[in-house]
Amino acid sequence: MADRFQPPPGYPPRSVLARDCTACGACCSAPDIHALQKPLGVPCLHLDAGCLCHIYDTRPQVCRNYQPDWVCGEVAPIPTLAGRIRRFLEIYGLEREVVGGE
Ligand code: SF4
Ligand code: SF4
Repeated sequence: MADRFQPPPGYPPRSVLARDCTACGACCSAPDIHALQKPLGVPCLHLDAGCLCHIYDTRPQVCRNYQPDWVCGEVAPIPTLAGRIRRFLEIYGLEREVVGGE
């Protein structure tokens, strides 16, 4: 089975091979999450200022199913949540889909 922490072939080598969630908040902020009616590029209402989920024990199944992968190595080292969101969206080619985005 493919190693989900390995960036795709040809990906710029600056990816850091991170294998743990560092609670950077990017995956709770960048994607749209239908179950939470959360739009693209907007932090989830349940994400606290320290990038932790304050409904962790009752979070929806979609959040329970989410697993860290190579994208974490790309986004987690970025110092600001806004920067991490931007990079996450960029990786998936979604930066122009954000309402009010450039
Ligand atoms: S993007 Fe990765 S490191 Fe950041 S909170 Fe999500 S799973 Fe954790
Ligand atoms: S409910 Fe919790 S785990 Fe799910 S996106 Fe919101 S903050 Fe993240």
